[in-house]
Amino acid sequence: MPARISVIMKPGTAKEYETGSWRSMRPVVDKDKCINCLVCWMYCPDNSVLVEKGELKGFRYSHCKGCGICANQCPKKAITMVEEGKE
Ligand code: SF4
Ligand code: SF4
Repeated sequence: MPARISVIMKPGTAKEYETGSWRSMRPVVDKDKCINCLVCWMYCPDNSVLVEKGELKGFRYSHCKGCGICANQCPKKAITMVEEGKE
């Protein structure tokens, strides 16, 4: 009996599912307080912290669920969770 070989053609991803509409609160960064340590990027469960050349650039709101982990972990308290529509 030939061995059964399973091949994964496409890795699992949530990239196509925009979960940002689940959010009631959104993270907003105060760039004056931010030291670009990227702790927020490391902890975000949705890969929604945008980083470019080692600097925090903002948030991918199309996928950010507003969990607030980034705000809780930020050592400089540079991220505030703001109610949607009240920014
Ligand atoms: S954790 Fe805070 S200080 Fe560090 S990059 Fe994120 S917002 Fe900036
Ligand atoms: S609120 Fe949650 S999902 Fe959104 S950027 Fe922060 S850690 Fe990521």
